[in-house]
Amino acid sequence: MTVELPGLVVVLCGPSGAGKSTLIARLRDELGAQLRFSVSYTTRPPRTGERDGVDYFFVDRPAFEELVADGAFLEHAIVHTNMYGTHRQQVEDLAAGGAVVVLDIDVQGAAQVRATSADVVFVFVLPPSVEELERRLRGRATDTDEVIRGRLGVARAEMSEAPLFDYAVVNDDLERAAADVAAIVRAERLRRAKDGTAARFA
Ligand code: 5GP
Repeated sequence: MTVELPGLVVVLCGPSGAGKSTLIARLRDELGAQLRFSVSYTTRPPRTGERDGVDYFFVDRPAFEELVADGAFLEHAIVHTNMYGTHRQQVEDLAAGGAVVVLDIDVQGAAQVRATSADVVFVFVLPPSVEELERRLRGRATDTDEVIRGRLGVARAEMSEAPLFDYAVVNDDLERAAADVAAIVRAERLRRAKDGTAARFA
């Protein structure tokens, strides 16, 4: 007999430089087609290689504000001067189809989801150390010293929120961190499957 695993919404949060995007890419290999990424809306211009509708939906400020006014967002926030938002309907549709829906959002967004949505799993992704975080942020050669110092300050403040999350995953070893998230997903889906499974024997 197999247990039918229900859809699950997982919020992955953590400071810029914690390696969330790489972790999500590795998680795709681990979970395969069951993983679906919530594609956020943003007013940030695309970076080289980013594709509209894949990495983000890139919109201008008036379009973003219209979506806010329509109540289209499950959460939205200003991060590093740009606006970001998670489309409620997109997440609901994906989860209803039985997928594991991963949201890569900041701590402000996570707080909004925590306040408004039940049954969501919150995972905080930590860099191995503050020194390693600084090294990773400096590795992005595009940023000035001032920007890096600013990001480090924000990262420290964000990391102080880790205790509010259900799980903490340290991203020091990508394979292990991805396996940790996959284990969380498996356990949380099995926890949610128990009612449906029991009903089949009633
Ligand atoms: P980036 O511009 O580097 O892709 O993302 C900057 C930050 O914005 C990251 O911490 C990322 O998690 C966060 N972010 C991306 N999408 C959303 C979203 O829809 N909502 C919120 N609150 N944060 C987001």
